Amino acid sequence: MEKLTTKIQLQQYLSLARAGGKTIGLVPTMGALHQGHLSLIQQAQQQCDMVICSIFVNPTQFNDPRDLEKYPRPIQEDIKKLEAIGCDALFEPAVTEVYDNNEHWHLNIGPLEGLLEGKYRPGHYQGVTQVVYKLFNLAKPDVAFFGQKDYQQFLIISQLVKLLSLPVQLIMCPIQREADGLAMSSRNIHLSVADRRHALVLSKTLNWVNDNFDMTKIDLLKQQAETAINSEPGVELGYFEIADGDTLLPADAQSKTIVALVAAKVGETRLIDNVIIAGS
Ligand code: AMP
Repeated sequence: MEKLTTKIQLQQYLSLARAGGKTIGLVPTMGALHQGHLSLIQQAQQQCDMVICSIFVNPTQFNDPRDLEKYPRPIQEDIKKLEAIGCDALFEPAVTEVYDNNEHWHLNIGPLEGLLEGKYRPGHYQGVTQVVYKLFNLAKPDVAFFGQKDYQQFLIISQLVKLLSLPVQLIMCPIQREADGLAMSSRNIHLSVADRRHALVLSKTLNWVNDNFDMTKIDLLKQQAETAINSEPGVELGYFEIADGDTLLPADAQSKTIVALVAAKVGETRLIDNVIIAGS
């Protein structure tokens, strides 16, 4: 696997690939790779001639400096995992390689920015669009792969691509879960044994809502879901929403896709999860 740390290296490597007529797939990550990330790379390998994974813990998307500081960075293990699945290249730049001092970024994302995650993490999606724009601009991928796990992020990146007319196709890949249903996340390593058990209430409640979904009972389903999560010890609910899959506003009869989304603090760890309601 090619290991690239500078913009110049990345651009030289990719311009050679492009000259050879290869299509390029990009999988942006913050590292601490698990099967969720690797599934994105595998999907990219099926669709593209060459796959590049980026690992960059992007400081501009963290509104809590402690969260940034404690973000796991097991780079050697990540490299082994990427090599084992045959990823072509890793782009792992330093912060100074990506950002100049006092760089300013603002994108008018619209109402999606302030909903759900946006309400809990002010500025988060400005940071996300800033770094994704940079990565797209540097790598110029034909296709970029993101997880459904960060559903709102996918909608916002779609908005970035639309607003700036970026020539890249976006693919959303399904959520990978542990055998017991917990959505895989780099943050799961912070969960204690008890937290880990309590965290299951999130995926269980999402599945329950999916299994019992009835358009006419949305308010009741939401209420029951909130009650179930609030009754779980060690779990502090942030939000539970049954939302329109395009706008993330509360779903209604016009919604083409419906998504149930949840965020909660389990012990000291903030987790998110969602399910696209079957048949919506
Ligand atoms: P992160 O490293 O957390 O920024 O995630 C990088 C990419 O992996 C994002 O597109 C995430 O949505 C995706 N991802 C994270 N966890 C999962 C998962 N459990 N299943 C599928 N994709 C995931």
